[in-house]
Amino acid sequence: MFAVERLMMPMMIANVAIAGGLTALLYKSHGWVIVPWFALVAATSAVRFCQVLVSLRSPERSRSSAELHRIVAQAILMGLIFNGVPSWLLTQTTGLTFTIIVCQLTGLMWAGSLILATVATAAVCYVVLTVGLISAGFLASGFSLEHLYLVALFVAGGATALRSAVQQHHAFASDQLRQLDLQANGEVIGLLLKDYEEQTSDWLWETDAEHRYRRPSERFQQACNKTASEIREYTLDTLLIASEVAGNDEAHGKLRAFLAEGRSFRDLVIPFATDDGVRWWSISGRPLIEADGTFAGYRGVCADVTAAKKAEARLAHLAHHDGLTNLPNRSFFEVRLQHALQVSDHDRLAVLSLDLDGFKAVNDRHGHPIGDALLIAVSGRLLKAVTPGDVVARFGGDEFTVLVTNLSGADEMETICQRLIDRLTEGFVLQEADVTVGVSIGVAFAGTDGETPEKLLKNADSALYRAKLAGRGTYRFFSPDADFRLQERQQIMQDLRAALGRDEFTLYFQPYVSSESGEVAGCEALLRWFHPVRGLVSPVEFIPLAEESGLIVPLGAWVLEQACLEAVRWPPHLRVSVNISPIQFRDRSLPHTIMAALTRSGLAPSRLEVEVTETTLMEDSHSALDILRHIRALGMRIALDDFGTGYSSLSYLRRFPFDKVKIDRSFVQELSSRQDSQVIVRAIRDIAKGLGMTITAEGDETTEQALQLKETGCEELQGFLYSKPRLPEHLGLRYGEQVADVPLYA
Ligand code: C2E
Ligand code: MG
Ligand code: MG
Repeated sequence: MFAVERLMMPMMIANVAIAGGLTALLYKSHGWVIVPWFALVAATSAVRFCQVLVSLRSPERSRSSAELHRIVAQAILMGLIFNGVPSWLLTQTTGLTFTIIVCQLTGLMWAGSLILATVATAAVCYVVLTVGLISAGFLASGFSLEHLYLVALFVAGGATALRSAVQQHHAFASDQLRQLDLQANGEVIGLLLKDYEEQTSDWLWETDAEHRYRRPSERFQQACNKTASEIREYTLDTLLIASEVAGNDEAHGKLRAFLAEGRSFRDLVIPFATDDGVRWWSISGRPLIEADGTFAGYRGVCADVTAAKKAEARLAHLAHHDGLTNLPNRSFFEVRLQHALQVSDHDRLAVLSLDLDGFKAVNDRHGHPIGDALLIAVSGRLLKAVTPGDVVARFGGDEFTVLVTNLSGADEMETICQRLIDRLTEGFVLQEADVTVGVSIGVAFAGTDGETPEKLLKNADSALYRAKLAGRGTYRFFSPDADFRLQERQQIMQDLRAALGRDEFTLYFQPYVSSESGEVAGCEALLRWFHPVRGLVSPVEFIPLAEESGLIVPLGAWVLEQACLEAVRWPPHLRVSVNISPIQFRDRSLPHTIMAALTRSGLAPSRLEVEVTETTLMEDSHSALDILRHIRALGMRIALDDFGTGYSSLSYLRRFPFDKVKIDRSFVQELSSRQDSQVIVRAIRDIAKGLGMTITAEGDETTEQALQLKETGCEELQGFLYSKPRLPEHLGLRYGEQVADVPLYA
C-alpha cells in the first residue's frame, strides 16, 4: 500500500466531518444543493475508504505510472467535488457564514496539500484547482479590493501549502527510500544467509546473553538431529559434550575460555559422539554487543568437518602404514621402537630384520597379484607368530621388521627365529596357486647391539645380510666382528664398481705345457686388480663380489677381449684359456660377447678355450648347456676347471662332452703324500680318456709331481714349476720379443 493511500483515510473522515458541518449550517438556506453535495462527498469518501481498506490487505507492490495517474485523477476529482460547492457558496453567503466557508476551504486546501504531498503532482493539481475554485468564488462574490486581497492571500497560502507539500514530499521520499534500502538490505542479507546455508554444509547459529541457542535454523536442526525446541534447551557449550570422545574435553575447555572472556573464536574443532560414530564440527562465533554496550549473546557459523577430518585421519594412517598389508611402515616402526626404547627395559627388546627368500621368483612365475597376496598372507602369519605387544612392520618389497618386546634372553630369540622361519616356509595357497617362500632373519638386541632405532635397524640389517650369505632359511645375530668384515666387503664391492672405469684391472697369463714335449701349449688368462690403496687384490677375493654385484658380466667381456687381443700376438699354435663365471652363463648373449672378442681381435675360435666350473652346470643346467653347445658350435674348446673340488660329481663329465678336464691343484699337491689322491687322479684320467677328453693338471710345483703326472697320463701341466702368472710382455711369446731372464719352463 502506498503511503498516500494510508493518509487518505483520515482525510476522508475529516472531509465528511467538514462537509457534514457545512451541510448542517446551510441546510435551511441551501438545502437543495448542500444535501446532494454532502451525499456526493460522503459517497466518494466511503468508496475511497473502502479502496484504501482493500489495499491495506493486499501485499506491498511497486508503484506503476498508471497508478500515479490514478492518484492524480482522484486528487483532481476530489478537489472538484470537495471544493466546488463550498467555493460557489462563497457567492451565496456573507458575514460569518462566508468566513466559516473560507476557513473550511483553507483547511481543506492545507489538509489536501499535506495529505497528497507524497505524490507531488497530485498535490500540485489539488492545490492549484482548490486555489482556482476559491479565487473564482471570491471574485464571483464581488470584485473589490478586499476580494482581490483575499484572492492574493489564498494564492500565497496555496503557494506556501505547495512549498510545504513539496518539502514534505522530499522528506517523505527520502524516508521511504531509506526504508526501502533498509528493507532491501534486510532482504538481501536474509537471502544471502539462506543461500549460504543452502550452498554449503554450514549453518548459522545465534545465542542469547545466557549462551542459550535462539532460532536454530533447519540446517542446524538437521545437523544435530534435534528439534528447534530441543536445541533451545542447550547452551553454546553444552550441546556437544561427549567426554568419552578423544579431544572433546580439550575443545570444550577452549570454548569455555572464550565464552568466559566474551571473545571471538574461529574454527574451533569439536569432536563428539553420535549414533553414526564420531563427528567433528568446526565452530566460529563473535559476541553480539548492543548499541548501549551490553552483551546480547553470540552469533556465528558452524560447519560439519567430519569428512575432512576422516580424510585427514586416513592420510595420517596411510603416512604411517603400508598400503598393501596395513602394517606399520618404516617411519611408524621407528617411532614405536623409539618409544619402546624409552619406556622398556632394553634387555627385553630386539629388532628382527626379515627378508623373504625366493619372493622374486614367485612374482616372476605367478605375477604381481599373487606376489601381493603372498605379502598379505606373510604379514598375517607374522602377526600370528609374534606375541601381543610386538610390532610387525613392512619396510617395502619383501622386507619385514619385527620388534620383539618381551624377550627373556638369546635362547628365546633362537626359538622365535626358528618359529618364524617354520611358519613362513609352510606352503601358501593363493588364488589356487601353490606358493612357497623362505625367510632369512637378522637379529639385533637392544642395548648390546644399539641404543637407537637407527643403530638397531642397521645392525639387524647387517645380521640379515650375513644370514642371506649363509644360505636361505636361516637367522644370524648381529656380531661386531662379522659386521666389520661385512663393511670391508661392502667397501670393496663399492670400489670394484669403480675399478673398471679407472683401469685398475690387468690380465696376467700363466702358460701350460705339454707333458710330452715340455713346450708351451697355451696360456690361461688370470685377472688381477691393483687397488689404489689395498694394492693387489686376489681374484679369489674379488671375483665372488663381482659375481654378486653382476659386475662380472662387463668385467668378463673385458677379459675375453683383452685375452684374444693378446693371443693374436702369439704363435698360431698357442691357445688362450679364459675363465667364465657361472653368472656370465645367465646372460644369453654370452656367445655374442665371445664372438665379438674374436672378431675384434681376429683370433681363430679354435685357439680360444673356455674354462667353466661345475657350478655352471649346477646353476641352471639347461640354459648353460645350451650356451655351451652354442659356443662349441662356434669352434671353441671347452674345459672343465677345478675338477675334484666342490661337488666333484663324475656325472658332470657325462653331461657335456668337454674337450679338457683340469684336475684341481689340491689333488696335485697331495699326489705324493696321499695314496687316495693318486687313485682319484687315475680314475679321472680313465673316465676322461674314455670320453675323449684331454687332462691338464693344475698347480704343478715340483719336478716330482711333474713326473708323476706325466706317468699318470696328464697331457698338459700348469704350475709354478713352469711359470707363475705373468704380465703378457714378460711371457716372451709375442713375435719379436725376447725375455731371456725369466725361463718359461724348466
Ligand atoms: P683357476 O682358474 O683355477 O686358476 C688357477 C689358479 O691357480 C690361479 O690363481 C693361479 O695363479 C693358481 N696357480 C697356478 N699354478 C699354481 C701353483 O703351482 N701353485 C699355486 N699355489 N697356485 C697356482 P689365481 O690367479 O689367484 O686365480 C684364482 C681363481 O680366480 C682362478 O682359479 C679362477 O677361478 C678365478 N679367476 C681368475 N681370473 C679370472 C677371470 O678372468 N674370470 C673368472 N671368472 N675367474 C677368474
Ligand atoms: Mg681356470
Ligand atoms: Mg682351476
